[in-house]
Amino acid sequence: VPELPEVETLRRALVSTLVGREIVALDIRLPKMFEDAGAGGPEYVRGARVVALRRRAKYLIWDLSEGRSLVIHLRLAGQVVHRDREGVTLAEGGHPVPAYGAPLPHKSTHILLHLDDRSTVYLTDIRQFGRVWHTPTERVETVVGADDLGPEPLDDEFTLSVLRDRIARRGGAQLKPLLLDQSFVGGVGNIYADEIVFAARLTPATRAGDITRPGQRRLFDAIRSVLGRAVEEGVAEILNGKANPDRDFPRVHGREGQACLDCGTTVVKFRFAGRGTYTCPRCQKYPQITPRRRRA
Ligand SMILES: [Zn+2]
Repeated sequence: VPELPEVETLRRALVSTLVGREIVALDIRLPKMFEDAGAGGPEYVRGARVVALRRRAKYLIWDLSEGRSLVIHLRLAGQVVHRDREGVTLAEGGHPVPAYGAPLPHKSTHILLHLDDRSTVYLTDIRQFGRVWHTPTERVETVVGADDLGPEPLDDEFTLSVLRDRIARRGGAQLKPLLLDQSFVGGVGNIYADEIVFAARLTPATRAGDITRPGQRRLFDAIRSVLGRAVEEGVAEILNGKANPDRDFPRVHGREGQACLDCGTTVVKFRFAGRGTYTCPRCQKYPQITPRRRRA
């Protein structure tokens, strides 16, 4: 499932291949994946130029000329591949199935954008949950539900004190579901939630209000380092629920039955809050007891 790092990595790749290009044709093969949100109809995409690419949480936003935007949410299995006129891939990202190098269009390629340099952007989605909204740029915040989205975890505005404020308001919530809640912090999904909880040496079930102040700092550092590393060094490779054994990232997600990379204890998998969840029982102990409570 594409999360913040996957979408950000895709955005960075597409900036150099897409910005400045004109869209000469839009081919919508699965109408339910394209929604016109007050922009006058899909015919207005034709002739528009890509002015900028932005991201908000897991949304990829293409700002077009004439004050319109395309907002893409890849949901469970959306994939974007940009190929030149010879079929050579310029940029790719999102869900890894079908393989990025597969012939396109695939039977699950639902939207194609043809550009003025005769390159093509293919939106493929084997699950058909992905969406593209065409909207006036001034309404992008409404389309992405910005009022209900938490802060961008990699932005400078997201600080330890911001995190502490948000934890204080949600003290009764358990940590993993809280991280998955897009109103708490934007863009974290199942893989990176496990990675953040592991890196912070907390547990998925830790109650937010029980996290000590040092634990809050570890959590903040973990959010920044896990997501930052995924964006800078390449996103997690998870195929059929398994981490790539040749890489040390992700460190815990997708490693059931393998030795913890930090302590050698066997990583366990269980269902928690409805999601496949991975932890190291030694690195991540529960309950988290503060020294003060232990004395009491
Ligand atoms: Zn461990």
